[in-house]
Amino acid sequence: MKEQYCEWCGSVLLENGRCPVEDCVQNVLLDALAEAEKEEKKDENTTA
Ligand SMILES: [Zn+2]
Repeated sequence: MKEQYCEWCGSVLLENGRCPVEDCVQNVLLDALAEAEKEEKKDENTTA
């Protein structure tokens, strides 16, 4: 299994792609993406 390293702090990423450093930019970006996806789904629901 190939380990992936955080491009921001160099830590080995967790299995779910998150950085072990909780306040790392990596996690902030992942959270922002997840939020954006949630918003998109919400919009789909409200327009349906
Ligand atoms: Zn990191």
